[in-house]
Amino acid sequence: MLCNQFNLSRPRNVDVSNAASTSYSAPKLGRTGRHGRQLIWMDLSLRLKCHRQILALCATLKADTAPSISATQQNATAISATFQEPRGSIRDNTGRLMLRNLTLQELQEWLISVGERPNRAEQLFRWLYGKNAWIRDISEAKDNGFAFSKVFKEKVITSASLSGGLTLQSVRTAQDGTKKLVFALNQGEGSAMGTVETVLIPMPNKNGINSRYTACLSTQVGCAMNCQFCYTGRMGLLGNLTTAQIVEQVVEARRMLSQEASDSAGASEIPIGNIVFMGMGEPLHNYNALLAAIDILAEGLCLSRSKIIVSSVGLVPEIRSFLDTKKAKLAVSLHATTDEVRDWIVPVNRRYPIKELISLLQGYFPMSNAKQSNTSDKFVVIEYVLLRHINDTAEDAVRLSDLLKDVYCMVNLIVFNPHEGTQFKGSEEESVKTFRSILVKAGKVCTVRVSKGDDTMSACGQLGDLGSSPRLAPLLQPPEKFRKYLNSAIDPEKEVELWK
Ligand code: SF4
Repeated sequence: MLCNQFNLSRPRNVDVSNAASTSYSAPKLGRTGRHGRQLIWMDLSLRLKCHRQILALCATLKADTAPSISATQQNATAISATFQEPRGSIRDNTGRLMLRNLTLQELQEWLISVGERPNRAEQLFRWLYGKNAWIRDISEAKDNGFAFSKVFKEKVITSASLSGGLTLQSVRTAQDGTKKLVFALNQGEGSAMGTVETVLIPMPNKNGINSRYTACLSTQVGCAMNCQFCYTGRMGLLGNLTTAQIVEQVVEARRMLSQEASDSAGASEIPIGNIVFMGMGEPLHNYNALLAAIDILAEGLCLSRSKIIVSSVGLVPEIRSFLDTKKAKLAVSLHATTDEVRDWIVPVNRRYPIKELISLLQGYFPMSNAKQSNTSDKFVVIEYVLLRHINDTAEDAVRLSDLLKDVYCMVNLIVFNPHEGTQFKGSEEESVKTFRSILVKAGKVCTVRVSKGDDTMSACGQLGDLGSSPRLAPLLQPPEKFRKYLNSAIDPEKEVELWK
């Protein structure tokens, strides 16, 4: 794991400590008997009393038998020397490769292709993502531990860029401490344009002190899924973020938090401990960029994969592929208990109806998982937004319990956060309590998500900028039974205009 290997001064060819531990074992050395090394070892081990001499000999034997390249290099020899660009839009408008788009392995491939040692990839990763490094330019990589040669730096400057493809434009802090970061996408450094938003949600410890943040990341500008209660969905899809632009949201957030700590003398930096892909966009609709970003978050920024949650609205084939990769945890936004309602408020349900989605989850998260010792990555999070009089009745709660009876899951209820122009309202407190208690009685773990940041439009479903969208996504015709109620909530004059 790279995050444990950021000691750049370790020997490149011979690991003496490891040689010592393996060479003390006669049976292992015995396997080299064809060359007579077992005899040499037995003879010498009797004669040599000095521990340092034994270590030196072991190192020699190890070097003799082991390949003369490091583990990283061994890895890379299996990699093709020709660099295949892994995803689209990974060059800037001057044709330079944007290195922040590359995973560690892809960076190794690129280094080999330009005649460099692949273990430079680890060094570069340290500078790009290591704590308090976060360089923007290769010239900033100067340190006592090691420094890149002038030749190498020139090579990077001419052929590659360290830009993350976005620039922090503004930060708004809500009363509860939630921070909304707005980023402008750099022209020519990805296929999408406009702005994206990231939210840092404070996570207080048991003493009420904010001890870490959860970062809610965006993967797209706007979203194609058109969930009817979602502000981002109304924008329609304006473009996909690159891997670099996804990862850079965290890097920029860390830069900002580090700066905040140094500005307030004595304060220690509040870390980002969890990542949720619940910002703008459907993450699995930008699948390849997402997977590479998760690898970089785990290998470069050293975030535990069990603390990274990808939330999907229900793209069944992509969910299946994603679960097979085991790269991070999954949350599924269900939001309704009948196809009639889900077809309306989560239109992707028309392609992948509830039954198909639940059956997939039953296969990957059977209730038998609950009996396993380490269950942290064995359950799926089910998200359910509570919309007043739409999906929050006791009958809905009973149906939801029934749908999930064979799925090992945790249900996260989210009271709807209103935004301008919406036809929905959040559920009343009594309905939330009743809904939750029905699920709990049915044996489900069920939490109610505390809404944070809604005074700065940072809460769930409130991200985006409708003004940047040339054409808003349509509001869909509700099922007949809800029209009367919704009509009373909106201006009847606008009904025809609203529902397409
Ligand atoms: S809820 Fe998520 S998937 Fe649905 S429109 Fe909003 S951003 Fe897209």
